Amino acid sequence: MSAPFPTLLLATGNPGKLKELRARLDGTGVDVIGLDELPFEVEEVEETGSTFAENAALKATAYGWIAGIPTLADDSGLEVDALGGRPGVYSARYAGPKADDAQNNALLLSELEGVDDRAARFRCVLALYIPAGLLADRLACAALFTPEITQVPPTGAPKPFNPERDGVVLLAEGCAEGVILSAPRGQGGFGYDPLFLSDDLGLTFAEDSDRKKSVSHRGRALDTLLSWLEL
Ligand code: IMP
Repeated sequence: MSAPFPTLLLATGNPGKLKELRARLDGTGVDVIGLDELPFEVEEVEETGSTFAENAALKATAYGWIAGIPTLADDSGLEVDALGGRPGVYSARYAGPKADDAQNNALLLSELEGVDDRAARFRCVLALYIPAGLLADRLACAALFTPEITQVPPTGAPKPFNPERDGVVLLAEGCAEGVILSAPRGQGGFGYDPLFLSDDLGLTFAEDSDRKKSVSHRGRALDTLLSWLEL
């Protein structure tokens, strides 16, 4: 199957995420570019949504409309059952607007002090904005055979939404289940990795960053999305 499009914009300034996606799409004929490689400056889009899906779709649409090419954006975070799903979409700013990983982890440990149920999951939603007309036939065909494909209108599209005029956003979700330890373990990874004991690995995500890739929320969401595009 030929590449569905020649170039994909990844709506991130994070060089690690860019490198990972490039490696994953190597040999498929799809070239991945980052926001820095656009021939014009783009303003940062604020994550004002209340769900991962809303934030991911917001970013994919905002950057994709400006660039006019397929655009992928993600939003992810940690959901802790005993905290009613917090920190969730606020994972990066859990301990305050400018909080760093150490401050967020310290707050998490203090909120869970004496708590027995420490079940948690990382969740990631990927949103792929596809400009109007592009892939319409292929998507319609894929949707017939893959009922779990979630297509939503681009954020801010006029109502009623018209995919042929406005394009579509595909949403794919991935989760990684685990428990929150009472002390950090491991030196790798970032964010909450040292406190997150993965059910799949029996290790924290900070103890085995390599194997994390195959079971991570982000990796799973990406596998789902790319399978829809037959990539
Ligand atoms: P973003 O979606 O990449 O902006 O991530 C939001 C926040 O969720 C990060 O700042 C981390 O605090 C947390 N997070 C998301 N994914 C991971 C992960 O794989 N490991 C550890 N923390 C994560």
